[in-house]
Amino acid sequence: VAICEQVEDPRKAKGLVRREVVEVITPGTLVHDQLLDGSRNNYLVSIVLPVRPGNPVGLARVDLSTGAFRTGVIEWDDVTDELGRTPAGEIICDRNRSEFLKAILPPELASLPTTQREAWEFEEARARTVLHEHFDVSTLGGFGIEEMPLAIVAAGSALSYLAETRCGSIDHLTSLSVDHTGDSMLLDGQTRRNLELTSRGDNAQSEGTLLSVIDRTVTGPGARLLRHWLTNPLVHVEGIRTRQDAVEVLVDSVPAEEDLEGRLRRTADLERICARLGVRRVSPRDLAAIRATLSDWPELRENVAALGSVFFDASLAEVPDLEPLAVSLRGALAIDPPARASDPGVIADGHSPALDEVRAVSRDGRGWITSYEAQAREETGIGSLKVRFNKVFGYFIEVTRPNLHLVPDEYTRKQTTANGERYITEELKTFESRVLNADEEALSLEATLFEALVEECGAWIGPLQALARAIAHLDAVRSLARVAREQGYVRPVVDDSTEIEVREGRHPVLDAVEMDEIFVPNDARFDVDLRFHLVTGPNMAGKSTYLRQVGLIVLLAQVGSFVPAAAARVGVADRIFTRVGTSDDLLQGRSTFLVEMVETAGILHNATDRSLVLLDEIGRGTSTYDGLALAWAITEFLHGLPTGCPRTLFATHYHELTELVAGLPHGCNLTTQVREQGEKVIFLRRIVEGVAD
Ligand code: ADP
Ligand code: MG
Repeated sequence: VAICEQVEDPRKAKGLVRREVVEVITPGTLVHDQLLDGSRNNYLVSIVLPVRPGNPVGLARVDLSTGAFRTGVIEWDDVTDELGRTPAGEIICDRNRSEFLKAILPPELASLPTTQREAWEFEEARARTVLHEHFDVSTLGGFGIEEMPLAIVAAGSALSYLAETRCGSIDHLTSLSVDHTGDSMLLDGQTRRNLELTSRGDNAQSEGTLLSVIDRTVTGPGARLLRHWLTNPLVHVEGIRTRQDAVEVLVDSVPAEEDLEGRLRRTADLERICARLGVRRVSPRDLAAIRATLSDWPELRENVAALGSVFFDASLAEVPDLEPLAVSLRGALAIDPPARASDPGVIADGHSPALDEVRAVSRDGRGWITSYEAQAREETGIGSLKVRFNKVFGYFIEVTRPNLHLVPDEYTRKQTTANGERYITEELKTFESRVLNADEEALSLEATLFEALVEECGAWIGPLQALARAIAHLDAVRSLARVAREQGYVRPVVDDSTEIEVREGRHPVLDAVEMDEIFVPNDARFDVDLRFHLVTGPNMAGKSTYLRQVGLIVLLAQVGSFVPAAAARVGVADRIFTRVGTSDDLLQGRSTFLVEMVETAGILHNATDRSLVLLDEIGRGTSTYDGLALAWAITEFLHGLPTGCPRTLFATHYHELTELVAGLPHGCNLTTQVREQGEKVIFLRRIVEGVAD
């Protein structure tokens, strides 16, 4: 419904009074109370569908009546659930994808109004501009979506549509937050970097990272999955516990874990091979590797099934029966095929009668050479006469210099070498063409047969990938179990509370490397009352280490891993945010301070009472008083968050904050214990309640 109004005062207008469309009401943009069901939101949903099914989807939701504006990226498999979960009033999508959208909508949503928009509104650059202009910002980092093009496009296209239908009056959309649904926690780039999960600083190597300590995988798929797990911790207690159970089974049984390691080590990297298979670029050795893995699989499977773990059973259940493929490979592929498909010997004997026949000709030919050689020796009386072969001349007879006078007339000289002469004969040439033809024919037959075999394997890519996934899961869990056992980790209790209790926690990386001093374990505790911990203390006393340690323990717990502590209980965090002051990001041409503020904004926009927030020296990038003012405001904001104060550790050198925090109901001051000996300060590395001197 388009609403037109007179936009001029009729008394002053000359002739016709000017009228304009002032508002377009659509099902998803209703704001009129009397038309709305107050108990639920009325969402406009913008969906950014991929070109091909299976890829991630951008999804933004706006409730114009409340100003709630969220965007995010979801997995393809979750689209239907997601759409079903939020009662959308209207969906907008790219005109070119509307048929696609219709095809995936569940029946109960089929009647949902869908509005097709022009494709250019779904371009990233355009969407960015729209968002920059609307929120008056120069980067989307403050909303935590800078690195999420699909989320940007979804939000930008929604905003374009609203700007049009509301005729510009959408000023009440003042914030945008990242919607992350699904089974895993969204970790922003800054947090991944600060926690040094998979890389450290500019160093591309993984040395000194959490991954380097945790990764004891022995397969390619396992290594890749574990890396994925570390950067995508789980958020549902049930999923975490299932993984923990599996880890525990292997922690408890060293022989089972070691047996599994040995077997997994022998498996092929099926993911990579499948990728080559997909583009039909596999080598005979690749197929042999598949075959070897398939022949080990049944026993491996049986051993794993015997462990009685729900997690493992679920992984195994995903793998279809691969025996028909194994049978084909065993029948068709030579036992030890060459690396290149163009070399002879790829296809097994007995697979193709035609191939066997030409191979026989070639083989008989070799017998013929031996007897021809013997006969020539006898006829000429040259005992050292040899029949040989090279690529240039084919077959020839070689006679050494002292015997040249014995060579019969019918030998045709072909080449003189240092030691003698090379000859050919009529008979030898006739024979040669027969054998060479047979070899050539064998090669071409092999090529055709190999191609057919590759084609056949190509139909098994899905099942093989499923097997690769199962191997990856087994290996990743095994790796966690190995680390837990060797590093003395404990199984944390994971629950839905918003509390954390760690006794004698250790930093997983410092715990695993050689250090000059002995690592001092520390406790951590967040409960319903105490949620905001301010950590003060001198430089180099261990504040940053403590923050990271708590973050890493929570993260490991949500990965399903055991943790470096004497005991731990972790209420699942919806997000872990970290921000460390003073690091230059000159590459992007933004000042340290701006970066710090943009990222802190990202935290303030997205943190909830279920989040874990680690702030390290925030406010350092500017002058002392401005920095203090910011740190103060950030503290008050987080502490007073309407949803409840997030679990926060704030390391700071602003001593003034300790007084603020002491007066906050959920605040608590922590400090690093030091002992002074004359002029010297000794760091005891213990975090205790109190304020730094
Ligand atoms: P701060 O942030 O207070 O300046 P850091 O956390 O950077 O201090 O720690 C400085 C150094 O102290 C670390 O590099 C580490 O070697 C050592 N350290 C920190 N915490 C501990 C601990 N609990 N036990 C032993 N050494 C520690
Ligand atoms: Mg520090």
